[in-house]
Amino acid sequence: MEKSFLEATRLNGFLEKLRLFGALHGPTVTDAGVTTFAPVTDPAQLLTDYRRTQIPPKKYLLPFREQLLSYRDGRYAEPAEAPPAIVLFALHPCDLAGIAYLDRVFLGDNTDPGYAARRARLTLVGISCEPDDFCFCSAPDAAANCDAFLATTKNGYLFSALTARGEEIAAAAADLLSASDVSQPAAALQSGTGVAPQDPELRFSDNPLWQKFADTCVSCGACSVCCPTCYCFDVREYPALDGGGVRIREWDNCLFATHGEVAGANFRPTRLDRLRYRFLHKYCGFTPLQGITSCVGCGRCKAVCPVGIDLRELFCAAGGEMSS
Ligand code: SF4
Ligand code: SF4
Repeated sequence: MEKSFLEATRLNGFLEKLRLFGALHGPTVTDAGVTTFAPVTDPAQLLTDYRRTQIPPKKYLLPFREQLLSYRDGRYAEPAEAPPAIVLFALHPCDLAGIAYLDRVFLGDNTDPGYAARRARLTLVGISCEPDDFCFCSAPDAAANCDAFLATTKNGYLFSALTARGEEIAAAAADLLSASDVSQPAAALQSGTGVAPQDPELRFSDNPLWQKFADTCVSCGACSVCCPTCYCFDVREYPALDGGGVRIREWDNCLFATHGEVAGANFRPTRLDRLRYRFLHKYCGFTPLQGITSCVGCGRCKAVCPVGIDLRELFCAAGGEMSS
């Protein structure tokens, strides 16, 4: 993998080159002070040294609400509009790992056509980051799942092309890239305090921390909404009086009491049940199937929880391992 160098003063020019591949989106801040991935019309809007966005990039692949089909007179039609081409710029390694996880779920044996169509139109450009106290990713892999990656150096960025599309970006920006400046090594990719339960079969069933958390959890669902790998959804139909109707898919949330309701029964009636369900799915449910946990250590769930519930407390108490 050949690297080249992009001086910081040329970043705006590089962003213009990225626009050749689709509408440019990246981390910005709203008037309300919320960091969010959004369209970038002016490079001054872009945050390159942000910590985390509130909502992860999953919103580009799994929209909060989407129409799957409409029906009328015994026939149905799927939306004909193709998804737009988007370049998602300045993704951190944890968010790239989150997208890699969603790819496993939605591009696996039963490919989700909507996800696949959006994913094919998404160009991913990663950037190195600096962890804060909320981060607990471990061993971030910059090369994972992006088309190109920028590793920050003192005066600019080391650019790596990682896919054919990344090579196209390199070709388009050739006049801005110079031979890799070895006198300006990239800062080593940093990880947070990685944490994982040592025993993949761990169930935490008798750990008193579950009850402690359940006593304060308000079931707001923010931890799931903000999680880059939470993808629960519901499918609903809304019939109209004229015989037609639409079928939509929208985010669901396993912290909500309704999530476990089936035919009048509720499989997870208490907050303790629901908290345990979510966390065990992250660490013990997916791992035996795919060999990885579905937590990428982005720290969002702790950062947004209004009562400060922190997964790491539980893992450490239950024999988890922290690396530094
Ligand atoms: S469980 Fe928390 S730390 Fe892990 S990926 Fe989800 S939001 Fe991030
Ligand atoms: S964000 Fe905190 S309070 Fe809200 S559902 Fe999640 S754990 Fe409970």
